[in-house]
Amino acid sequence: MSAQRRIVILGSTGSIGESTLDVVARHPERYRVHALSAHQQMDKLAQQAAVHAAAVVVVPDDAARVRFTDAWGAGALPDIRVGAQALADTAADSDSDTVMAAIVGAAGLPAALAAARAGKRVLLANKEALVAAGGLFMQAVRESGAELLPIDSEHNAIFQCLPHGGQAGAPTAPARGVRRLILTASGGPFRNRDPHSLENVTPDQACAHPNWSMGRKISVDSATMLNKGLEVIEAHWLFAMPADRIDVLIHPQSTVHSLVEYEDGSVLAQLGQPDMRTPIAYGLGFPDRIESGVGVLDLARSGRLDFEQPDLDRFPCLASAYAALRAGQGACIVLNAANEVAVDAFLNGRLGFMAIARVIDAALEWHAGQRSVTLSSLEDILALDVQAREFAARHRLAKAA
Ligand code: NAD
Ligand code: MG
Repeated sequence: MSAQRRIVILGSTGSIGESTLDVVARHPERYRVHALSAHQQMDKLAQQAAVHAAAVVVVPDDAARVRFTDAWGAGALPDIRVGAQALADTAADSDSDTVMAAIVGAAGLPAALAAARAGKRVLLANKEALVAAGGLFMQAVRESGAELLPIDSEHNAIFQCLPHGGQAGAPTAPARGVRRLILTASGGPFRNRDPHSLENVTPDQACAHPNWSMGRKISVDSATMLNKGLEVIEAHWLFAMPADRIDVLIHPQSTVHSLVEYEDGSVLAQLGQPDMRTPIAYGLGFPDRIESGVGVLDLARSGRLDFEQPDLDRFPCLASAYAALRAGQGACIVLNAANEVAVDAFLNGRLGFMAIARVIDAALEWHAGQRSVTLSSLEDILALDVQAREFAARHRLAKAA
């Protein structure tokens, strides 16, 4: 084995961040934690930094720095860096070789992109970064020679099922012999509910995912199935695959994590327990397989694997995501930004569950009526992201609630 890998975890206090630390701690000879970052929960960040002996932590502002310092016990403090620029600089600095991008939302884009530009091994959980800036991100991977390992379970499954166990770069064409990618989706907590009964569901009901334990934003995205729509866009960029060769299949057991269909009729799938430590361990260890802490899959005990077509009337967000992918990058930025605003409002009790889809569609309609703008730089992308957020917040929230 080569030298010990030095890891930066962007968003270490989140669900993916914690799972990453769990896997890393199983292999102290292979991995050392260089830096951790969080936006809230400074006490948790301090605890993580102490347990994993992180050299650096990145916090959002001076108030958070004070909270971090207050939460710190005895012993020398780590190097505390403050703000979004420090986050991107830490993702790119030469003291590390591996970056786990596990911040939620487009807020994670600048630091993930900085890691890609710096030629790191990038473990990408932050799907919103690809939805908003797939072209720019993949170009950065190509130019820097970064290793890109998808962590989203579906994309990690597809990666594993590609010829030669996947190439950790940025393809410019679909892998040879591949006809179709099939993303599986659990259908979330409302798979069998009458859509008319969903107007008044609470955030806790929406976040009660039947199979996966995740952060609250992605849990709501799973309930609306926009998550699967974001993943279709993510798959488009990761695997250079056109929209009409990416399908979605409901699979309530979340055992088959996704499938790759080949020209000869073969279909390869990756199976496992619904536990993100498997894809995280795959990304950390690639091309080796390392222990993840995930138990064995007992197929005889699970008994059956069911599959069905998604119902687009029940899950309009999935159709909106396909439409955005076909419309182009601006529409994808707007789809993601409007969704982040709407989900935040829903989680804070200011918007009904079914209104999330209406906010997204209104924003896409608004964008379709705008003059098209160049989206070649991070600044261009973030400017449209801000505009779309303003639209979603100002024009729609009140009406849609
Ligand atoms: P989470 O909400 O549990 O954690 C998010 C992390 O990001 C936290 O550490 C938080 O402090 C940090 N953060 C939040 N806002 C920030 C900001 N503005 N600036 C900097 N840091 C910020 O989220 P999660 O469930 O771990 O998901 C993280 C990412 O991984 C998301 O993009 C999600 O779609 C993706 N993902 C998650 C899962 C899962 O099982 N949780 C599976 C697949 C993909
Ligand atoms: Mg997923």
